[in-house]
Amino acid sequence: MIKYIEPVFRPPSEWKSLILQVTNGCSWNQCTFCDMYTQPQKKYRAQKIEKIEQEIRAIAASGAIVQRVFLADGDAMTLPFARLEAICMLIRSLLPQVQRISCYCLPRNLNNKTPEQLARLRSLGLTLVYVGCESGDDDVLLRVQKGETFATSLAALQKLKTANIKSSVMILNGLGGTALSKQHAVNSAKLMNAAQPEYLSTLVVTLPLGKVRMDEAFDGQFVLPDQQGLFREMHDLLSALELDKTIFRSDHASNYLVLKGILGRDKARLVNQVEQAMAQPQSIPLREEWQRGL
Ligand code: SF4
Repeated sequence: MIKYIEPVFRPPSEWKSLILQVTNGCSWNQCTFCDMYTQPQKKYRAQKIEKIEQEIRAIAASGAIVQRVFLADGDAMTLPFARLEAICMLIRSLLPQVQRISCYCLPRNLNNKTPEQLARLRSLGLTLVYVGCESGDDDVLLRVQKGETFATSLAALQKLKTANIKSSVMILNGLGGTALSKQHAVNSAKLMNAAQPEYLSTLVVTLPLGKVRMDEAFDGQFVLPDQQGLFREMHDLLSALELDKTIFRSDHASNYLVLKGILGRDKARLVNQVEQAMAQPQSIPLREEWQRGL
């Protein structure tokens, strides 16, 4: 019914959603740690609106009950407002049972959208965006070529909040290597404290391209923290987080230690779990290397 340009990625929580590939690839595609869209067929381009409409009509005609739609690929919010509005209106009119539309978003995707336009998209069902902040530390962000800073990330998260669009933020553990681990954790916590996102998840950076680009970014040698180092970084992050009501998940397959809770309510318990993992790793269930899905 829908012909995707593979590979297609989506957040784990969108496993039940209809994936509409409104763009192909990522408009930025430069982060040193990411090879999601590096294959030639994944070169960035916007999908034609006629094709999107055809796909939505085909889903509607099949009688499938669709309640959630995820707009792929890597940063669908890069589309201009008018295109996003048209897509949301099509979904709304042809798939009336849809309760939530979501997508990935880079902070800079919001530069050309006014608060009123974001509120309009919200009213059409776009109620959640996944923002891969990766870090709140400017040095780390510069080295990994994210093209964002603490300030630009915060401005985007605040703009979303003003429009009542929920943010689900991702922070990458280990992204600063051993050299910048502490400042990566502390400044990521500062960013989250200032932004107060509705959801926060962490996963461990993996380097599928090999370390070459990361080594270049880190003056010749990027050293990923070992298990204890990752625990320490998680401890630094959690200890510095001052969140009012954020659903926190660190349960991606890349994590040794599964952590889940609501921050701040569960902060003490989560910090305690990490401390236990640091002091007595044998005493709690940790993922083995082969289970970590790297
Ligand atoms: S913005 Fe996201 S999808 Fe694009 S290169 Fe960076 S990490 Fe990968």
